[in-house]
Amino acid sequence: MSERFTGSFTQQEPIPQAGIDAAMRVLQSGRLHRYNVAAGEHGETALLEQEFAAMVDAKYCLAVASGGYAMATALRAVGVKAGDKVLSNAFTLAPVPGAIAAVGGVPVFVGVTRDLTIDLDDLAAKADQASVLLLSHMRGHMCDMDRLMAICGAAGIKVIEDCAHTMGAKWGDTHSGRHGVMGCYSCQTYKHVNSGEGGLLVSDDDELMARAIMLSGSYMLFERHLAGPPKEAYAQIKYETPNISGRMDHLRAAILRPQLADLETQVQRWNDRYRAVEQGLADTPGLTVIKRHAKESYVGSSIQFLLEGWNGEAVNAAIARCAARGVELKWFGGAEPVAFTSRYDSWRYAPSEAMPGTDEILRGIVDMRLPLTFSESDCAQVARIIRAEVSAVYQAS
Ligand SMILES: *Cc1c(COP(=O)(O)O)cnc(C)c1O
Repeated sequence: MSERFTGSFTQQEPIPQAGIDAAMRVLQSGRLHRYNVAAGEHGETALLEQEFAAMVDAKYCLAVASGGYAMATALRAVGVKAGDKVLSNAFTLAPVPGAIAAVGGVPVFVGVTRDLTIDLDDLAAKADQASVLLLSHMRGHMCDMDRLMAICGAAGIKVIEDCAHTMGAKWGDTHSGRHGVMGCYSCQTYKHVNSGEGGLLVSDDDELMARAIMLSGSYMLFERHLAGPPKEAYAQIKYETPNISGRMDHLRAAILRPQLADLETQVQRWNDRYRAVEQGLADTPGLTVIKRHAKESYVGSSIQFLLEGWNGEAVNAAIARCAARGVELKWFGGAEPVAFTSRYDSWRYAPSEAMPGTDEILRGIVDMRLPLTFSESDCAQVARIIRAEVSAVYQAS
């Protein structure tokens, strides 16, 4: 009998006890709305913002309802209006083009490389088409950020970073989310901290953050923010900015604060698991492991590999054989979107010119989640199964 894996790819760890205790205190207080605080109390949400800003060396932070809301708010704050073009990744997740569509923007998709990062040659070629780039560090892969910032700087492009998969990651000494004018993070269950839903937005810019705080629905209570700009920043903005409610509440913030305090440890644990799978897959015939840049310190909460040049039938066969042995892989390159969408031609509301080189890479991308409920030996087992099944299909074809 060949071995079979029995873990669940969607099972995260429980919320730490400190988070459960803090959540109970919020529930007992009855004060769940972020601006509902007792005299002398700051509230969990404002404290979370302060702690996250300090963690990523940002001046300001705003906690919001979701990562998608954070991105749409950032786009609004930088002034994207209906009909404006916004550059973004051809390979990312649906909430990214969705955020552009939410503000009436028109995505201009930029291709992907074999390292699964944005194609900087393609970005340079399209740099004259828009003045904003919503850059997605999709699946935690960071491009050469020095070159990206040079291209965008020269073209006068404002960069907003989608860090849904890079909370806890760095390029050199700089935290992901701190290269652009605003950085957006998700606190959704499948990301690096888990409050079910939630998002964080960071910036050093007084005007952008004042706008974002007004947009999120702060009424005239912005002075209660501990990680917001001084009140002078709101002088005009408070009259001119619509309220598009998307605040985070104290309950979610209470759950998140102990998780943030633990993030560094969790990142290590993710990377131990990532390396166990990566090692187990090395030199598998027909399978390409994704290269990581020396300047990138990543968070291995999922792993990708390429089945380059494989036909769809063979990819499906390998995935089905792994599934039969308990290993859940996702084919990001599938032509028909199943359960999620991650490629530009799935988003038919935002038509794009064809990108044959990108299509070729997209066709080969396979993805697997690595929840922390897996042990390192689980990860080694999962890698053995993938290796065996991918090799079997490759050799037969
Ligand atoms: C999850 C995700 C987001 C944001 O997701 P929300 O569910 O809105 O918090 C943004 N970008 C990518 C690449 C994601 O995977």
